[in-house]
Amino acid sequence: MMVFSTRDPALRRRPAEAIVAGLAPDGGLFLPESLPAFPMDRLAGMDDLSVSVEVLSLFFDDFTRAELEDCVRAAYAGHFPSGNIAPLAPVGDAWSLELFHGPTAAFKDVALTLLPHLLTRAKEKCGIREEICILTATSGDTGSAALSGFADVPGTRITVFYPHGGVSPVQERQMTGRAGRNVSVAAVRGNFDDAQSGVKEIFATMRPPAGIRLSSANSINIGRLVPQIAYYFKAYRDLLRAEKIRMGEPVNFVVPTGNFGNILAGYFAKRMGLPVARFVCASNENNVLTDFFESGVYDRRREFHLTKSPSMDILISSNLERLVSLFCGPEKTAAYMKQLKETGVYALEEDVHAALRREFSAACADDGETAAAIRENFEKYGYLTDPHTAVAFACYRKFRASDEWNGAKTVVLSTASPFKFSRSVLTALGRPVSDDEFADMDALAAYAKTAIPAALAGLAARPVLHRSVVDVPEMQAYVMKKLEIPVWND
Ligand SMILES: *Cc1c(COP(=O)(O)O)cnc(C)c1O
Repeated sequence: MMVFSTRDPALRRRPAEAIVAGLAPDGGLFLPESLPAFPMDRLAGMDDLSVSVEVLSLFFDDFTRAELEDCVRAAYAGHFPSGNIAPLAPVGDAWSLELFHGPTAAFKDVALTLLPHLLTRAKEKCGIREEICILTATSGDTGSAALSGFADVPGTRITVFYPHGGVSPVQERQMTGRAGRNVSVAAVRGNFDDAQSGVKEIFATMRPPAGIRLSSANSINIGRLVPQIAYYFKAYRDLLRAEKIRMGEPVNFVVPTGNFGNILAGYFAKRMGLPVARFVCASNENNVLTDFFESGVYDRRREFHLTKSPSMDILISSNLERLVSLFCGPEKTAAYMKQLKETGVYALEEDVHAALRREFSAACADDGETAAAIRENFEKYGYLTDPHTAVAFACYRKFRASDEWNGAKTVVLSTASPFKFSRSVLTALGRPVSDDEFADMDALAAYAKTAIPAALAGLAARPVLHRSVVDVPEMQAYVMKKLEIPVWND
């Protein structure tokens, strides 16, 4: 199986090359040339590991099955304390697919625990002997998940930049408390966009020392997308085993969406044979995608809102390009992306928009509606919900009340532990908060009579190992200085 650029079918690569490269050379994203059929007849009997390995091997066929098994085992065994990567919990008449039991308590762990292993194997296959240095700017969740995934992985280093004063104290300690001989973390004086432009500038201009190659771990890498397909099959298998559905019965998935990576993985699963009735794309007040699915027009020319679900505060949803390319082809996609860059807007043709609307519904919820969903889930069902997941529950209830409702069993994807956003959750529940987010975590645990997940417990006591604060123009010098220090590498 080859992959090619969303903007140019002539730019074809082997999967391993695409994983190492991240982005296609024309700025497009890599897309598989076909979406292979998953063996649905065997799904009910497969364990978690087999589902992941099966999905990976269908796409990454330049890896052997044994190699992929090693990667999956190294990523997941022991790193998901409950032993279950994606448990399914009933909440009223829906199910919550909990993707937050990994090392940093957010769904990005599912892919970012695996990516370092895929990347180091891919590097060997491509005959690249250099060390890979991952550079990432983060608004919170990606940084800690990437640090956790890459810490002490031989042949790699990782440097994370986050906006000084721009992430929550919990997210900050998850990064500054991260040990690892190949790890460096710095706060940048500026906002997330400043940090992000600084990283882009480094990629564009820096010549790393001999023996080191720069790479990125953001969600446009095909090595992050494909691992996420597996948990859609796994959720369906669990509903089958619990006799909530019969084989072949279509279900809905409601997905709290920002960069469109999570929900796109679900759509891939559908094209591979998973019976899905509808996807509901759930957004917060930054509802550029809601409008896109409603009108067929992508228009980023709007106010940016800081919300209580910060990981979904996005106006340019990068993985959407893959969906657009699947429906419109590379040539139109290239033109649309050029328009988006130059004018901030593009419009689909009517028949394409109609085809998309048959697969996707879309809804949005503001902070008030999000808080109401947190309250409803707790008061009616005793279920604690983080703000991102609560956006999806609010959208599920809107969908259920709309004329698009189809009566199918519905799974809501749950993307973060409520304890990662304790203050917002306490406030939504009408409880007092303190000026110490770690104390709020304890207060939430006591009020909800639920244990703080191991990934977050003890965080307050973890020593701060990284204290650098840099200005944007100093970022490159910071990276260079770190790269000159040799690290453990066997
Ligand atoms: C990243 C993130 C999302 C958005 O996922 P996308 O794949 O970017 O759409 C939602 N919730 C949480 C908690 C996240 O960290």
